[in-house]
Amino acid sequence: MKVFELTDRAVLESSIANKRCFACGGAPSTGIGEHVIPKWLQTQCNLFDKRLTLLNGTSIPYRKLTVPCCVDCNTGFLSTIEAGVQPIFHRGSISSDEEKLTLGRWLSKILIGILVKETSLLLDRSKPSSSTIVPPSFIDELQHCHFVMQSARKPTSFRCIHSEYPFSLYAYTVSNPRNNAEFDLSTNLAGQSVSIRIGQLGVIFINDGGFQMEVGPTGPFGLLGAELSRTQFREISARVHYKAALRDATHSYLTFESDESIQIEQLNVRSFSGYLPGSNELQIFRDWNETELSYAMSGYMAVDRSIVFDEAAQVCRTSLIDQQGKLIAEPKP
Ligand SMILES: [Zn+2]
Repeated sequence: MKVFELTDRAVLESSIANKRCFACGGAPSTGIGEHVIPKWLQTQCNLFDKRLTLLNGTSIPYRKLTVPCCVDCNTGFLSTIEAGVQPIFHRGSISSDEEKLTLGRWLSKILIGILVKETSLLLDRSKPSSSTIVPPSFIDELQHCHFVMQSARKPTSFRCIHSEYPFSLYAYTVSNPRNNAEFDLSTNLAGQSVSIRIGQLGVIFINDGGFQMEVGPTGPFGLLGAELSRTQFREISARVHYKAALRDATHSYLTFESDESIQIEQLNVRSFSGYLPGSNELQIFRDWNETELSYAMSGYMAVDRSIVFDEAAQVCRTSLIDQQGKLIAEPKP
């Protein structure tokens, strides 16, 4: 079967509800499936008993955070994706554009895994009163995330409107990690963004077709690639997650696949709300609101909102830059 046929089958609501392979929609293995947070990472960072909080408020240990997967996908292209990122995190930096795509594939795999897990819980047939309708727009966006992940199956060329690849990715160096086992994860499922830090490399991925790269190629305060403290990385992640949740547009795609290769082309931008008032410009993001941001920052940084929000000025404080706009240096340990 062609890669796009596998993808179409994987994103069907019935495939998710019936717990088919999350990567191809085929018959799942009888094993435990694919670990969303891979075993090498659980081992390296001792995460087996650490938990991820789900949208319904419950939490699940990473070791049980699995999605149905077939043997071919598990031992085939998904293990290629896993093998690709390990040297990057080991080195602690990204050295080429190809490595951005390698990371993008891995982060899209994690995002798809979490989204499928959440969606299958939503579709749980044992709870007939729960919602059983996944919005078609969600399936569309899940498919766009698959474009990135599935590019590990076959040589793929991308033609995108805003950036080289159909996603946004920001990377930072986090100074003075205690060791390579330090791990930080946060997600915004509404915005389809995921932030992960392993040791000194922190990366934030957004399944947005590259919109954030268009409006802010160097990220919040232009700090792309900067050396940040742990707190600063959490703050920058919160700001990117919040921006991701403001996205109000998507893309139309043209895809072509031969036996040897895949081409994925972004055709145009589709805004959910249409044109900005009195303008011929499409609305891509809803308006930024510092009060809303303060709740996001408080949540992602695990601090009281009064610490991040200046009530008098109605703006969020920042740990990232000083009043001159310069990066606040990490105090020496
Ligand atoms: Zn499969």
